Amino acid sequence: MFPEFTLRYANFPERFYARFDPVPVKAPRLVAFNRPLAEALGLDLDAYDETAAAEWFSGNRVPDGAAPLAQAYAGHQFGHFNPRLGDGRAVLLGEVTDRDGRLRDIQLKGAGCTPFSRGGDGRAPLGPVLREYLISEAMQVLGVPTARALAAVTTGERVVRGVPEPGAVLTRVASSHLRIGTFQYFAARGDSEAVLQLADHAIERHYPELADIEPPGARYLALFEAVQARQAALVARWMGLGFIHGVMNTDNTSISGETIDYGPCAFMERYDPATLFSSIDEGGRYAYANQPRIVQWNLARFAETLLPLIDDDQQRAIARASEILEAYPGRYEAEWLAVMRAKLGLGEALASSDQADRELVDALLEALQAGRADFTLAFRRLCDAAEGEEQELVALFERAEPIQAWLAEWRRRLAQEDVEGSEIARRMRLANPAYIPRNHRVEEALAAAIDEDDFAPFERLMQVLARPFEERVADADYAQPAPPSARVFRTFCGT
Ligand code: AMP
Ligand code: MG
Ligand code: MG
Repeated sequence: MFPEFTLRYANFPERFYARFDPVPVKAPRLVAFNRPLAEALGLDLDAYDETAAAEWFSGNRVPDGAAPLAQAYAGHQFGHFNPRLGDGRAVLLGEVTDRDGRLRDIQLKGAGCTPFSRGGDGRAPLGPVLREYLISEAMQVLGVPTARALAAVTTGERVVRGVPEPGAVLTRVASSHLRIGTFQYFAARGDSEAVLQLADHAIERHYPELADIEPPGARYLALFEAVQARQAALVARWMGLGFIHGVMNTDNTSISGETIDYGPCAFMERYDPATLFSSIDEGGRYAYANQPRIVQWNLARFAETLLPLIDDDQQRAIARASEILEAYPGRYEAEWLAVMRAKLGLGEALASSDQADRELVDALLEALQAGRADFTLAFRRLCDAAEGEEQELVALFERAEPIQAWLAEWRRRLAQEDVEGSEIARRMRLANPAYIPRNHRVEEALAAAIDEDDFAPFERLMQVLARPFEERVADADYAQPAPPSARVFRTFCGT
C-alpha cells in the first residue's frame, strides 16, 4: 500500500532518535481515511481494503522499508525549558516522496510508549484524534499551512483519561516534524555538530533556495529569517480565522511553517482578543491576541540555538540575529494587514496608506468586540454588504449605530478600489469562510463517535468543512455560532 520509504531521519546519527516499533493494538478498525491525500502521497489504492488499512494505520503491520523511530526534542512548555521531551507516543515510519516530488513524513500518533514517554501511556484517545483530523483538514482547505491527517483507527483498547475512553491512532503527514524544540534539544547539550546537521537538513527540505548562500554563517542567519517569515505568515492566517492554537510551546512550533500539534485548539466565536479555551493555560499565555508575540518569543529561542553557526564571534552572532528578530513585528504586521485587507475586500496597491487601512481594520474589530458579534459570521455577512446587503450584518451587533458608522467609512474606502461591488463580494467570499470547525459541532461529532460509536456526525461535519467558502442552504446551521446552551468555554488537551 505505501510507496517506497526514503528514510532520511533514520539515517541521522542515533542520538537524534530512538528506534521504536509501534506497539500492536488489539482490534484495529479504520474510522477515517483521507483518500485525496493518500492519492497525493502515491499510496497504492487499487489493492486498498479497510481491514488491511486498519493493520497499517494502527501500526500492527509495519510497511516494508519503514524504519520506525521516535524523534528526540526538547522544548519550552509554557515558558519553562524541558531538555528532554521527544515523541512520547508518536512514531515516524519514514518519509515518502509525494506526487509533487516533496518529501513528507508519515507518523503514527498514539503508537505506544516510547523511550520518551516519561509518565505517559503512549496512547491517544479517540476524541483528540478525531479533533486533530477534523481541524487539520479544515485548516488545509482554509488555506493555512498545516500537518495533515491521513487516517484514523480505533484500537479496540481503552485508554484512561479520568474515565476510560476508546483508544485511537492518527496517521499524520507533515512536510517534516522538525521543531524549534528539535534544535533546542541539541543546543542544550552543546552538540553544535547536531545543530549544524539539523540546520542543513532544514534548508535542504524546506528552504532549498538558501543552500548556496556563502559564507555559511550568512546561510544559517538566512535560515532563521526564512523560518521567521513563514511563522509570521502562519500566525497572521490564524489570526484572520480566529484560530487559537492553545499550546504554542517551542516543541509545537515547526521549522517548516506548518501548524502542528493540534491539542486544545479552537476557533473564537464572539470577537474578543483575550479569548482562551485551553484548560491547562491558566495564565492565558496562549490567548488569541498573544499568539503573534509568542511566535516571536519562540523564534528568539530558535535563534539562540543557531548562534554558534552564525558567527564564531558570539557577540556579533547575537547582534545579527537580534537585528532580524527586531524586524519581526513589522513583518507580522504586514502579513496581518494583507490577510485583513483580503477579508475587507481592499486591494493592496492603492494610494491609501497602510496606516489608514490598519485603522479601518482596528475600528471594525472594536465594533465587533463592543457589539459582541460572531467573528466568522460577521466577516461573511460583510461580503454581502459589499453588494449593498447589510441588514444581516448589522443584526449580528448588539447596537446598530457603531457598525453602520463603520460601514460608511468602509464604503468610502471601497470607492477608491474602482472595482464593482459584486466582484469585491466575490473576492471577499474566498477570504471569509462561511464554515469553520465550530467548537460545539466538533464536540457533538466527537461525542457521537465516543459514546455511540456513531461516526455519521463526524463525516457530515467533514463534508461541510471540505467546502468552507461556498454557502449552502442545507448546511446553514453549521454556519451558526453555538446556542447559549451549547457554548464551549474550555477545551482539554485530553492527550
Ligand atoms: P504535546 O502537549 O502534545 O505537545 O506533548 C508534549 C509532550 O508530551 C511530547 O513529548 C509528547 O510526546 C508527550 N505526550 C503527550 N501525550 C502523551 C502520552 N499519552 N504518552 C506519552 N507521551 C505523551
Ligand atoms: Mg507536541
Ligand atoms: Mg499533542
